[in-house]
Amino acid sequence: MSYQELAVKDKKYIWHPFTQQQEWEKDEDLTIITKGKGTYLYDAKGKRYLDGVSSLWCNVHGHQVPAIDQAIKKQLKKIAHSTMLGSSNEPAILLAERLVKMAPKGLKRVFYSDSGSEANEIAAKMAFQFWKQTSPARPKKNLFLTVREGYHGDTIGSVSLGGVDLFHQIFGDLLFETLKVKSPLDYPSRKVSNEKWLKDCVREAEAVFRKYGSRLAAVHMEPLIEGAGGMLIHPWGYLKAIRRLCDKYDVLLILDEVATGFGRTGTMFACEQEGVSPDILCVAKNLTGGYLPVAATLTTERVYKAFLGSFESTRTFYHGHTFTGNQLGCAAALANLDLIEDKAFLKGIEEKSQMLQEFLEPLVAHPHVSDVRLRGMMGGIELIRDKKKNVPYGYGEKMGYQVCALAKQVGVLLRPLGNVIVVMPPLAISKKDLSYLIEVISMSIDQATER
Ligand SMILES: *Cc1c(COP(=O)(O)O)cnc(C)c1O
Repeated sequence: MSYQELAVKDKKYIWHPFTQQQEWEKDEDLTIITKGKGTYLYDAKGKRYLDGVSSLWCNVHGHQVPAIDQAIKKQLKKIAHSTMLGSSNEPAILLAERLVKMAPKGLKRVFYSDSGSEANEIAAKMAFQFWKQTSPARPKKNLFLTVREGYHGDTIGSVSLGGVDLFHQIFGDLLFETLKVKSPLDYPSRKVSNEKWLKDCVREAEAVFRKYGSRLAAVHMEPLIEGAGGMLIHPWGYLKAIRRLCDKYDVLLILDEVATGFGRTGTMFACEQEGVSPDILCVAKNLTGGYLPVAATLTTERVYKAFLGSFESTRTFYHGHTFTGNQLGCAAALANLDLIEDKAFLKGIEEKSQMLQEFLEPLVAHPHVSDVRLRGMMGGIELIRDKKKNVPYGYGEKMGYQVCALAKQVGVLLRPLGNVIVVMPPLAISKKDLSYLIEVISMSIDQATER
């Protein structure tokens, strides 16, 4: 079907996520993707784009990856889907074993779902139920401690755990309450030493533990870097300190590695960089290499055991989704993990992370860049209207979108977070394409901010 016909039908029938449809309907240049190959996307007008945000942070090895395509085709010849409620299947079993083997120490059980939001929702429900059933039971432990500007998804539970006001405020009355500590936003990392920054953050968290420790079910957070909140990095040592406090006050640690998992920050899981293992781990995005929607919540044996009992005990975890453990998705994930666990892959990420650091860091000197924040191949460049007076661009100025619109003109697809230009290329991007991405980002920032 022609671009024109598709554009008309899109505007007539579709409601896009995180999109002001009134603007979308007026857009004369919709990007309608018809094909992907390697790290490039092709649209209905035949134009080629570099997939600069990994198809929303999930693509790992590019598109039409022979090994993953093959694995899906092979599985398709057997069966596409059967339920995990009352039965099991081979790809789901093998993937669970694989995940447990590669996960941080202590995580032994895998509970499947279909999206990062669900993986987080499940983690919170598990933690809540855990304290009612562990022995001795601690039913008063029903509060969650979260970090401001955290993002854990868009379902009501995961929104409750999040703290991005722009997305979450309107639903305030619907949400359960959580305790929140300051976001890294409130500590301008370039102006204070890591040591002071860390001390301030830990002091605040410790005060909450002291006051509420006996009522805290879990700390629920993103490790090292808060993605959707604006690529906000935590001080080094923060995660480790939180783990220590959790141990001291007997509080579960839930880590949301939906964005950071599987190599994104330079190690298989971000928490490894602080030598920390959570009690519950959430993964999704990169798990299938960006092919199919599979997510997982991993737990320790301690958490798992609290749910064991006779049928009548009703200690069961009453939760599950129709497509949980889907065979095609799990087969894709297994093929993806084969490629990820190749030593050269993590080595490549290390080299490309250095490239990003080296070439993006100098942008801090740009008159309209207030900060460059990177952890491995995940980062953001924050734009500012007036650096001296610390005046940000207004929401309505859409400066992030303007930068991305310019990048699109020269064949790079990006998606900003407010005034933050997100840097999140597919992990397997070639160095040549990465150079081009860096060049286009910096040129687009120049052009947009000079206007
Ligand atoms: C994207 C994301 C989610 C939500 O995942 P979905 O699959 O979009 O529901 C949760 N947590 C983090 C850290 C994310 O980046």
